[in-house]
Amino acid sequence: MIISALFDDLGADGAPRRLGIMGGTFDPIHLGHLACAEQARETFGLDAVIFIPTGMPVFKLDRAITAAQDRLAMVQLAIRSNPFFDVSSLEIDREGCTYTIDTIRALRDHYPDNVELFFITGADALSTILRWRDCDDIGRLSRLIAISRPGFSFDDSLKAELDARGVYRVDYLETARFSISSSEVRERVAQGKSIRYLVISEVRNYILEHGLYKPAQDEELQGTSQAGFQDDPLGKAFYKARHKDLKDRVGKKRLKHIEGVAQTARDLALIYGVDPAKASLAGLLHDWDKGYSGEQMQERVQELGLDELIDPRLVRSMPQVFHGQTAAAALAREYPSIPIDVLQAIARHTTGAIPMSDLDMVIYIADALEPGRTYGTIDDLRAMVGKVDLEELFYQTYRYWVILLLEQAKTMHPDTIEVYNFYAARHGARKAAERD
Ligand code: ATP
Ligand code: MG
Repeated sequence: MIISALFDDLGADGAPRRLGIMGGTFDPIHLGHLACAEQARETFGLDAVIFIPTGMPVFKLDRAITAAQDRLAMVQLAIRSNPFFDVSSLEIDREGCTYTIDTIRALRDHYPDNVELFFITGADALSTILRWRDCDDIGRLSRLIAISRPGFSFDDSLKAELDARGVYRVDYLETARFSISSSEVRERVAQGKSIRYLVISEVRNYILEHGLYKPAQDEELQGTSQAGFQDDPLGKAFYKARHKDLKDRVGKKRLKHIEGVAQTARDLALIYGVDPAKASLAGLLHDWDKGYSGEQMQERVQELGLDELIDPRLVRSMPQVFHGQTAAAALAREYPSIPIDVLQAIARHTTGAIPMSDLDMVIYIADALEPGRTYGTIDDLRAMVGKVDLEELFYQTYRYWVILLLEQAKTMHPDTIEVYNFYAARHGARKAAERD
């Protein structure tokens, strides 16, 4: 069983390790959660903290809980910049109600004895612990870090009672920094109030983007860009108009692929902290020039003034490889307000470049993994989404394509090998760094 992609091998070397466990509904995860976990990590010298969103929380059956996948995605977004944090879908993957003790037992079984478990909990949650299933076993199998929280202090009778049981080791951490709760965040969204600085910005984007906590219509649905302006290239109107244009430019099958890429790019962007509006626009426009024949492509390269940049022999032998570059050039000419990084991602989606920006990688990957693609072991790549970092996912996807090209005896742009070598070397260096 996999607990956490990053910390599954913690303690495998036999050295003493400390693992923090941060359980919660995380509906949504907010700065209070993050700051508490970080403070616990620092104070108790934890080697890692794993956030474990609940599946069906037993204490919250009274209200509709947001889909587990959304809560998980938001935790993922929130923790990715902290190398000591990871998320586990352990409880979400389990059917039915979630009991903390089952999770603690699963972790205890998974990790060797030299890994000490620390269950991190807020004062409010701690006050209910004696009602939890097999609660004494929680105390036997893990230490507790109890964090005070505005409005909830530790009450002495609870402390005494836990003491009296003789199985709990509790450390009390007085911090009470953030009087933020998920309930407050949800209420604010429902009332159309700002949640800036209550949750991290990627989580805010996710909430707005997916219309969470909000009854029906939502003005801010366009994520990081403001919708509505006819000329705003990241707005809804521009997107719709170009989508309409594409119907005349490419065939039905191609359009379906394009829609898949735009959607996949948006999803990847949200997972990897890239601007989702830019990602879906670049996804939508990446095959803008896919409707031309080989000969027409050669003309197009000339007409757009790209012939000085591109080796004419290559344009003759593999004209279609350049549809990314011609699309970017043509779009830049026609719609100068399209952001340059969007154009760059479009230009680079065929052969890649050194180095790729995050947006470049998102588009490249989306092109390969959109739902319409069905070949071979592509599902292995899909399974990595969100589990590995963006560069690793890009490297694996690129590698897959190189293999595919070789297998199908297709010609390859000479830059391909350089891009491959660059990212393969970096991949090797990362693996080596992980080992020591
Ligand atoms: P809700 O308002 O829906 O109950 P919440 O903000 O309490 O949400 P949970 O997911 O229930 O969030 O909390 C997970 C864990 O984090 C609990 O142990 C809780 O006590 C703790 N926690 C949440 N917010 C804070 C905070 N601001 N300060 C300290 N601990 C917190
Ligand atoms: Mg709570």
